Amino acid sequence: MYEMCVGPEGPGEALVWHVMAKQATATLCGQQLAERIEAAGAERAGHCSRCMASFAKLMKVTRR
Ligand SMILES: [Zn+2]
Repeated sequence: MYEMCVGPEGPGEALVWHVMAKQATATLCGQQLAERIEAAGAERAGHCSRCMASFAKLMKVTRR
């Protein structure tokens, strides 16, 4: 299971939506989000391109 979580794309960068496995401590792009940010503050945030790329690969692997 995966979930979307909001966090900065990098230190000091804009908020984006990352993908995170339910039991993981880091996002698919390897970031450890220190705190959950309220999704309401990120309605216009984009998607993390690195997470999206990793997620697409995972979906290909698991859908055989
Ligand atoms: Zn990410």
